Amino acid sequence: MIVVMKRGATPEQIEHMIQRVEELGLKAHPIHGTERTVIAAIGEKRDEHRTSLESCPGVAEVVPILAPYKVASREVKPESTVVRAGSLAVGNSHIGMIAGPCSVEDVDQMIATARAVSRAGATALRGGAFKPRTSPYSFQGLKEDGLKILAVARDETGLAVVTEVIAADDVELVARYADVLQIGARNMQNYRLLEAAGATGKAILLKRGPSATMDELLLAAEYILNAGNPSVMLCERGIRTFENHTRYTLPLASVPYLHERTHLPVVVDPSHGTGHASLVTPMACAAIAAGADGLIIEVHPNPEKALSDGYQSLNFEQFGQAMALCRKMADVVGRQIALNQRTP
Ligand code: PEP
Ligand code: MN
Repeated sequence: MIVVMKRGATPEQIEHMIQRVEELGLKAHPIHGTERTVIAAIGEKRDEHRTSLESCPGVAEVVPILAPYKVASREVKPESTVVRAGSLAVGNSHIGMIAGPCSVEDVDQMIATARAVSRAGATALRGGAFKPRTSPYSFQGLKEDGLKILAVARDETGLAVVTEVIAADDVELVARYADVLQIGARNMQNYRLLEAAGATGKAILLKRGPSATMDELLLAAEYILNAGNPSVMLCERGIRTFENHTRYTLPLASVPYLHERTHLPVVVDPSHGTGHASLVTPMACAAIAAGADGLIIEVHPNPEKALSDGYQSLNFEQFGQAMALCRKMADVVGRQIALNQRTP
């Protein structure tokens, strides 16, 4: 249920309502909008308490939440959420640009990339230190050494660091270095990992599983929101279909669809979504045209030599060109790519 408070309901009335909801054995998620406050009351036995809650002071109405996901739903929060983490802002009028290599390889690679993407206007730096590889024989990442290198690159450029965590046991370690915890496609339904990452309070980039439906993605986000963490970005990174001309199939209709269903920002990954460097920039522009709130793009100083995903990585010059085109596209659709104020 959603308890909609009246405009001008007092903080005491809101607090009283939260207590009432909790007394009924439901979890209260207060959401303070610009116009009014709503309290999502989540739990098994819901509708039977509707009338008793409706009679409380300051309450305008109590309505059921129809979607299977609750706190993620636009029914609960009509205004779009902006997720912020250091230099990165994603959502509403802010288009965030996250760029960097698939994997952290060494200090020189990371510093050179951080400087180049920052100069081109990226607002955050990506780089995997823990890599979820299809084959156990592929490069698995530098682990904590990689996280340390990311922290050096952040100090050097001021860019927020986005990096993947692949196991619940590693959450505490990765959260010590990262500004944004990336949950990879393979882990979208690893519910213990979602809860552990959610509990850190760090912003989360949640990638869609290659065979997950939109409802499954939103219910995965709900695990993080339900852990008390409102800073969730959804990421469309392509799904598995019969088609194999691209690594995955990148369904951009999910961007406007998600905007209808949820207030959470939507980021698009045209690198994994296509698997070909030459297709990344056109699909990045298309994602912005579709209303994406952010992009995550793989960039490497020398893609040919990359230890992972080189075939889909842009070099510095290509990334500069991609940024220029994305800016034009954002202009056309009346939006703006957020400026990185901290370029050295
Ligand atoms: C990545 O971002 O490098 C990655 C492994 O992505 P995904 O989880 O979408 O495959
Ligand atoms: Mn990759």
